[in-house]
Amino acid sequence: MKDTIEAMFGVTILGNNSALPAYDRHPTAQLVTLNEQLFLIDCGEGTQMQIARYRIRHSKIGHIFISHLHGDHYFGLIGLITSMGLLGREHALNLYGPPRLIDIIELQLKVADTTLPFPLLFHPIEKEGLILDHPKYSVACFETSHRIPCWGFLITEKRNPRKILREKVIEKGIPAAFYDHLKQGEDYVTKTGEVIPNDSVTSPNIPDSSYAFCADTKYTESIATKVQNANLLYHETTYLNRSFQ
Ligand SMILES: [Zn+2]
Repeated sequence: MKDTIEAMFGVTILGNNSALPAYDRHPTAQLVTLNEQLFLIDCGEGTQMQIARYRIRHSKIGHIFISHLHGDHYFGLIGLITSMGLLGREHALNLYGPPRLIDIIELQLKVADTTLPFPLLFHPIEKEGLILDHPKYSVACFETSHRIPCWGFLITEKRNPRKILREKVIEKGIPAAFYDHLKQGEDYVTKTGEVIPNDSVTSPNIPDSSYAFCADTKYTESIATKVQNANLLYHETTYLNRSFQ
């Protein structure tokens, strides 16, 4: 079971060298593998070279999450995006980050007279909460304590099949033919269009597993409640406490 979990849900650190790149170490970027999905968290300078080095097909990256707008966390983004275009990507790329990120990307594309051949779907992050929800996984963001607005990410694998709450499904009149879909985490839509959320008629059978990326942050109690059930927790820091004294 353990091997299966590791194969299905894993993290590859592409860079963790904080603000200054160094030989053979790189600014922040990491890839989260979740079943067939690849999520890229942050995209420091040189990330696309690291992706090539690890022989990762960047066409498989569907979602990129940028924690904040310090350069060591996103200066590799325009390079990666334009390479995706040059290599003929046609399917959509979802980008999540602070609202002004899209202004920077659009300006860089505009002055280079570049039109991407694929839809770049930008999702500004303005408040804490769920930013991506799928029957098999979810991504939530939470505020960290940094000099500029900065977001951590909690990626959760919903461990199906879920357990059907018999009394609830009968109460809601959900037909037995739909039970297999419920076990896979799908919501039920009634004939009148009412959505019955999956978690109101099922419960987790196996505990969910999750990974928390806490980005740049000072110590703050508020993060603890957001990440308390994470199976794996990641922090980065450039300075030790004494450097501030
Ligand atoms: Zn920073």
